[in-house]
Amino acid sequence: MNSVRIEADNIAFSYGEPRVLRDINLSIEACELFAVVGPSGSGKTTLLRVLAGLEQPSHGSIRLNGVDVRDIPVAGRNVGMVFQNFALWPHMTVFENIAFGHPSAQSSGTETVEARIEKLLAILDITETRAARPAQLSIGQQQRVALARALVHEPRLLLLDDPFSNVEQELRKQMRHDLRTLQRKLGITTILVTHALEDALSIADRLAVVVHGTIRQIGSPTAIYDFPNSIDVARFVGVENFLAGTLRHVERQMIEFASPDIGTLRWPMRDRPAEGPSVLSIRPHALHLCPIDSFRDGRYSWIEGDVVASEFLGEVVRYRIAIGNAELSVKQPHYLGATATPAGTQVLIGFDPSRARIFPAGQNADMSTPE
Ligand code: ADP
Repeated sequence: MNSVRIEADNIAFSYGEPRVLRDINLSIEACELFAVVGPSGSGKTTLLRVLAGLEQPSHGSIRLNGVDVRDIPVAGRNVGMVFQNFALWPHMTVFENIAFGHPSAQSSGTETVEARIEKLLAILDITETRAARPAQLSIGQQQRVALARALVHEPRLLLLDDPFSNVEQELRKQMRHDLRTLQRKLGITTILVTHALEDALSIADRLAVVVHGTIRQIGSPTAIYDFPNSIDVARFVGVENFLAGTLRHVERQMIEFASPDIGTLRWPMRDRPAEGPSVLSIRPHALHLCPIDSFRDGRYSWIEGDVVASEFLGEVVRYRIAIGNAELSVKQPHYLGATATPAGTQVLIGFDPSRARIFPAGQNADMSTPE
């Protein structure tokens, strides 16, 4: 398949007031699986529709392999799209759904549309279902039919709008694995919109995090997960603990973070963030809950606190720990037969400061909880 590189420069879009998308700049390589993630309502689907040509941007340009597509209608862009609900025709068979819009006599090059459909049915492992109607199929099979329909006209670009949104966890894992395998096999540039971070982390080459209609960060799954560049992105990727304080540079590449809740911590950091009012963030599973009289290993920073509540989640136990006027969320692995530390117990929390992130205070943060 003849895959494309897609570039978007300074895209803005609105359905009216206010703007839904602003300052969107993207460059997606040929054959890349690129995910667009972000909280619900942040503008992901709208961005996909603009890239597909279903909506016209109010500002900016989109290029496919360097060619501006502003004046090329949707049909001429050769883009395949899979919608959230798959949008299959209930009265048609699987074969008819895939062939819809392609009279079977029509041919492209040497391969007839019919032969292409047979090949896609085989690749997607749904040949057996060719005469069935959508209602007789599982969700996973319906998704594959929708994919086949999007792929039958050999698009240069595949756009997927939250294709796993209504699927339960186990099937979801299988479906995203299948999608990744197919995408590699076909070598087709693919943009996957999803509100579920795990889907993007598990299969995307790179992802963009969209918050309030702007792209806040683009990077590999590990770069985004380990090094979120703002409080908004950190929240979206599951960081829960944010503590206000003041940052100071001290000698030998050390930084000092002083907070009324946790006192003063010092640790080495080569690329030191700016001094001044700051926010320290750390993931719940990067904190370790220890008995109050534990040995305080010098490689860690230690904070004293009191257990407020615990919640057993299976693989982990989540604790809320009061420290000063703040609360920290701590996740501990659950060990066979262990019981949770009861509320009211005084505990010690140890953490490796290199796992903390420091952001300037007063960032225009979205403090709402992501889905
Ligand atoms: P996401 O896909 O991230 O959930 P959407 O792109 O669907 O976000 O929506 C972004 C914003 O645009 C939301 O505030 C939504 O209410 C608004 N919106 C989406 N579609 C329309 C539309 N057809 N008309 C008016 N507003 C819309």
